[in-house]
Amino acid sequence: MEPELVDVVVDVVVVGLGVGGEEVAGRLAEAGLDVVGIERSLVGGECPYWGCIPSKMMIRAANAIAEARRVNEFAGTAQVQPDWAPVAKRIRAEATDTWDDRVAVERFTGKGGRFVRGSGRLDGPGRVRVGDQVFQARHGIVLGTGTRPSVPPIAGLADTPYWTNHQAVEVEELPGSLLVLGGGAIGLELAQVFARFGVAVTVVEAADRVLAVEEPEASEVAAAALRADGVRISTGVKAERVDHDGRAFTLGAAGGVEFTAEKLLVVTGRRAHLDELGLDGVGVDPSQRYLAVDDRMRAAEGLWAVGDLTGEGAFTHIAMYQAAIVVADVLDHVRRARSGPDASGTASVVGGAASTAGAGIAGGVPHADYRALPRVTFTDPEVGAVGLTERQARERGINVQVGVSRLGSSTRGWIHQADGLIKLVADADRGVLVGATSVGPAGGEVLSGLVVAVHAAVPLPQLRNMIYAYPTFHRAIEDALRNLR
Ligand SMILES: Cc1cc2nc3c(=O)[nH]c(=O)nc-3n(C[C@H](O)[C@H](O)[C@H](O)COP(=O)(O)OP(=O)(O)OC[C@H]3O[C@@H](n4cnc5c(N)ncnc54)[C@H](O)[C@@H]3O)c2cc1C
Repeated sequence: MEPELVDVVVDVVVVGLGVGGEEVAGRLAEAGLDVVGIERSLVGGECPYWGCIPSKMMIRAANAIAEARRVNEFAGTAQVQPDWAPVAKRIRAEATDTWDDRVAVERFTGKGGRFVRGSGRLDGPGRVRVGDQVFQARHGIVLGTGTRPSVPPIAGLADTPYWTNHQAVEVEELPGSLLVLGGGAIGLELAQVFARFGVAVTVVEAADRVLAVEEPEASEVAAAALRADGVRISTGVKAERVDHDGRAFTLGAAGGVEFTAEKLLVVTGRRAHLDELGLDGVGVDPSQRYLAVDDRMRAAEGLWAVGDLTGEGAFTHIAMYQAAIVVADVLDHVRRARSGPDASGTASVVGGAASTAGAGIAGGVPHADYRALPRVTFTDPEVGAVGLTERQARERGINVQVGVSRLGSSTRGWIHQADGLIKLVADADRGVLVGATSVGPAGGEVLSGLVVAVHAAVPLPQLRNMIYAYPTFHRAIEDALRNLR
């Protein structure tokens, strides 16, 4: 017999309290709305428990090892004895509370939100069902359900105990060897960490280069750095079969090539599982790869989406940026509903959401603008990038100019003995940068000036006539500007 459903009427229902959902739910609750937040796993989502934060703790530790080893090059002798125990302990104790979200739940309820643990699913317009409860939203529903690892349909793989990022982050004792399937940002970051701790790592990538979405020059530097750390990298490999004999994995590829290791980490991208959300009941196609939204994050009437599931970039900073827009738009919607149909367009935007505006602010609500989307791969050296790559710019028919400078030919790069580069992509007709890449020891930090340049469309003469501090890594930007042609 079907359980009897209990209907609860609230202002807003947020499904999925990851980075984006938690931010939206918390801020709407703080603004005085009656908000229900539904999370089936841990409040905070992937980033604090299995993503950004623990992986960056691992990277911090691995980089300390690499830097200590450089004492032999610059400053005498040092013997380094890597030990994973402090890293595992820090992830457990400081990052994740041993994968317990009590603090995060209390943070949300402390703001006045109502928390429900479970899987939420749309139950028709304005309704969300969780188990035998149905929440009826007066003003709207926000989906922030994120993505899960996308596991390729390789014969045998599904039946093996392969790792995703979850097991890689939770590991207490390192294996002797590791196969990393996927040479994207996450694969490279984790491969370098484990290699620096003494694991024999092989990266297997189907494309003809690692970090295939970034500039080819960046891929080359990253691959060379990983190889210098002892990582074996095989590109252009079409994996066909995976076996596990109880002790080791064997990955068989086209042409009879085989790779063997104790563990296999699958990091071949992420997938939004839209089919689980009941979208067809509200007139939205659940077979889309990602949930299409407009520039105010609306997927349908009374339905907003935030974060990875929108497919605009799987980054915490995108989820936070979009969250500010959702908060502003929902509050605008509520204010209009409460003050009648003639309400004019100056919304009260909480917490400075309007100041994060992109292309424009209409009615006090910022519109999403991804022209200057920054992204950083935290390998050593870091690969930072913003906006369009050279190839993307050419595909859009832009009259492209490109300028490259190598970090080694800058004073700081030479002193540091660091590999890296700055690559700029300019629109010659408009005289502005439309994309940039910054690879180097602080590539992600150097990127910030380039993000401003792309975001604000700073004219090239202005960039050429400013002063770059000596001897910084970012001085290489000046050389790259000079090389634009
Ligand atoms: C290893 C790794 C490293 C990363 N490093 C970085 C980095 O350095 N910088 C960066 O910007 N980004 C990084 N990311 C990406 C970042 O973690 C994501 O972009 C971010 O977590 C997206 O937030 P979100 O709110 O969209 O989704 P998520 O954080 O995935 O949260 C979605 C939540 O929804 C819940 N949920 C799903 N379906 C339902 C349902 N039906 N009912 C209830 N709850 C549901 C899930 O349990 C989950 O908690 C990394 C990711 C990984 C995997």
